[in-house]
Amino acid sequence: MNDSKSLRSKIAKTVRDIPRSGIRDFFEIVSSREDVISLGIGEPDFATPWHIREAASLALDRGMTSYTSNMGLLSLRRGIAQYVEKKTGIGYRPEDEVLVTVGVSEGLDLAVRALVEPGDEVLYHEPSYVSYNPLIQFAYGVPVAIQTKKENGFRLTRQDLEENVSDKTKVLLLNYPNNPTGATLSKEDVEDIAAFAIEHDLIVLTDEIYDELTYDKEHFSIISLPGMRERTIYLHGFSKAWAMTGFRMGFTCAPPELTEAMMKIHQYTMLCAPILSQEASVEALKNAEADIAYMKAEYKKRRNYIHASFEEMGIPCIYPDGAFYAFADVSKFGMTSKEFALKLLDEQNVACVPGTAFGACGEGFIRCSYATSLDEIKEAMVRIARFIEKL
Ligand code: PLP
Repeated sequence: MNDSKSLRSKIAKTVRDIPRSGIRDFFEIVSSREDVISLGIGEPDFATPWHIREAASLALDRGMTSYTSNMGLLSLRRGIAQYVEKKTGIGYRPEDEVLVTVGVSEGLDLAVRALVEPGDEVLYHEPSYVSYNPLIQFAYGVPVAIQTKKENGFRLTRQDLEENVSDKTKVLLLNYPNNPTGATLSKEDVEDIAAFAIEHDLIVLTDEIYDELTYDKEHFSIISLPGMRERTIYLHGFSKAWAMTGFRMGFTCAPPELTEAMMKIHQYTMLCAPILSQEASVEALKNAEADIAYMKAEYKKRRNYIHASFEEMGIPCIYPDGAFYAFADVSKFGMTSKEFALKLLDEQNVACVPGTAFGACGEGFIRCSYATSLDEIKEAMVRIARFIEKL
């Protein structure tokens, strides 16, 4: 009989060595407490718009409970291609360039595994979404984390890239609008990055899951630039702007060779995304513009409020142009960001995520999600003000 220690020794070393997500650890502490105001979760507080839910129920009523094509329903892939073309000006063929995935999470995993061989380096920028580094390691690649700088508003620069590239670099993974900083890029920033990718012959993975959620200026996608469509896997999904996290729906757009490579993994691992979620997503693409506009207007009010409150308290906050996170600089209080977050939770029952959950350069910051009601945000800010007064 195996005891727990010998069972653990059988687990693949890569998996054993990767730490658990800092967010998950933190939320286990949060869930053990009552009456907490959470600014922690990166999940819309809105219910999925009713007509999208209705499309899923209708599909269920009609007995649509089968597998779909591995690539996803053609009607959905057509809708996705139209949507992406409208946003970026770039057309993709629904037949062999659009793949429906189980969330952007699966898309990221497929893209990395389709490209990365042992020892290949993947550049990505930190602070970053928590899954990037582990996904690269699961594929036996080498994650190369570029530490973006608060002085640059956590925007990735050409110089950052040049300092980290090597002859082993194969892939560049981008995420703007960014989780956790809320940073966005200008067209000029994106042009610099594209020129770098072309010069070094890199494949670009661009996670644009927050592209609908920019508040001051429109998002500009790297695929819109000359020479990028042919070297880029564009990743997007329904979780955030459509408030559909539980549907687990995402998609990739990429040249046929790359789509086929991802599809090979997808067909043996996932087979296809759930049909009810796919049916709901067809409706989401057809009729949700007004819902997105409504939610976005609400996020904008909250963004303005949370940013102004931090500034009034003397806590500098990276101006969040996009996504639904405020990244606040609490370094002057003489604690690590984890200590700050734990003490805030302990003394005022407000949960936020320590910046270090997103990489080393998140030290000194806390991430506060404003995907929660304005009333809750107001109360949380009162408590944070009370908390720092006592420090
Ligand atoms: N990419 C980023 C930047 C995210 O913030 C998230 C979720 O928080 C994901 C991907 C995963 O999204 P999905 O629900 O589509 O798997």
